[in-house]
Amino acid sequence: MAITKEGVHIKGTKKSLPDGWSTYAFRYAIFPTPEQVTKLEKSFGCERKVYNEYVSDLYEYLESIGFESGFIRYKVPNYTTITAKYDYLDKSNDSFVYNDAKMRFQAAIKKYNETYAKQPIQYKKSVRKKMKTIGYVPTLKDIKGMPKFHSKKQGKLSYTTNQTNGNIKITQENGAYFLCIPKFQEGISIHLHRELPIDGIIKKATIKREGTKYVVSLSVDYFCPNEKQVEFVTADEVIGLDYSQSELYVDSEGRTAQYSRYNKIIEKRQRRINKSLARKKNNAKTDETGNIVYSKNYEKQVKEYQKVTTKAKNQRKDFLHKKSNQITNDYHAIVVEDLNLSNLAQCLSLGKKLHDNGFGMFRMMLQYKSKKKGKYYIVADKYFASSKLCSECNHKKDKLKISERIYMCDNCGTKIDRDYNAGRNLKYYGIRILHEQSIIA
Ligand SMILES: [Zn+2]
Repeated sequence: MAITKEGVHIKGTKKSLPDGWSTYAFRYAIFPTPEQVTKLEKSFGCERKVYNEYVSDLYEYLESIGFESGFIRYKVPNYTTITAKYDYLDKSNDSFVYNDAKMRFQAAIKKYNETYAKQPIQYKKSVRKKMKTIGYVPTLKDIKGMPKFHSKKQGKLSYTTNQTNGNIKITQENGAYFLCIPKFQEGISIHLHRELPIDGIIKKATIKREGTKYVVSLSVDYFCPNEKQVEFVTADEVIGLDYSQSELYVDSEGRTAQYSRYNKIIEKRQRRINKSLARKKNNAKTDETGNIVYSKNYEKQVKEYQKVTTKAKNQRKDFLHKKSNQITNDYHAIVVEDLNLSNLAQCLSLGKKLHDNGFGMFRMMLQYKSKKKGKYYIVADKYFASSKLCSECNHKKDKLKISERIYMCDNCGTKIDRDYNAGRNLKYYGIRILHEQSIIA
């Protein structure tokens, strides 16, 4: 394996990175100048144009072979074939802009083939309506799942550029930092709120516009071996976490993540904007060709909605990072129940909420952070009845309804919050496991 200043050249995927090397994404806010904004927007626009040319070529091809339904077998041409064909396409952008369009187009075909090709043809609701009311004859592009033309509004505002010969780097000038990417070698002002690893190698940069803000996500390879595994643990250093729908978790000390208080603020904002969006949507008119026309205000509100949603997503993730960092710093062993999340979601018909509050992501964070810090991450056996056991006397209840929020022991008379009880049981479970392995005396 060769390590050069441009990057680590290894064949295959990141799985084959040498021992101790990992790839991580680092996200930063960038502040392009007005001229740079124009250039970036032009790149996003070009990506969309090339993508749309790909789609239009595809439809032309499908029509030529009389395609009706089923799998799309189509050899995706290289982007140079596309850009050469259309004179009007700007060729002054970073070539990865065009390549990005190709990748996205390939992904769109793959998605269609995997998800929709096997099903009977479906049409979108708006198309069905047009078919019914004005006898509209659907075309290939109306088929659900088919690669669609990207409009200016819904097109993805991003592109990814890869490292070649050190053309993606961070420079420093008078205490300020700049991101250099192809065609922007003068540097775009970047807020490095978090340091990049020394000796880290930037492999890719994805430039995005989210709402009105610009961000870059840097994919960085760097050497950071896991810390040595903790050899001995005391019972106090073990924590059990029981999943809680509203609070994310309740731990074996009876503390919660205080997630609901935090979530309420975010949700309130989302609800308010959702309401006004629905109202404006209802006011939309249908023109003579059957197309739905939305008001200017509606479009403005959509933008606002996207802004709020992105912010909420980031805030939640941030919260999960902070909590998982804190727990893996403070404790040597973390014990969680074996939750098959999709199962549980169905059983308890909590579906949406469960996925919304990010417990799956939280567990993933706990797991990799534990590994990194040499801590123990223990998942209880799926038959371990953490809720039904009494954490005082170990008596097991036959039945425990979801609605029973307080655990009452028939054997010793203990009355305890259901989730707190389960958290304690998980802790004791972990202690037992660690004891068996002589990690706890
Ligand atoms: Zn008991």
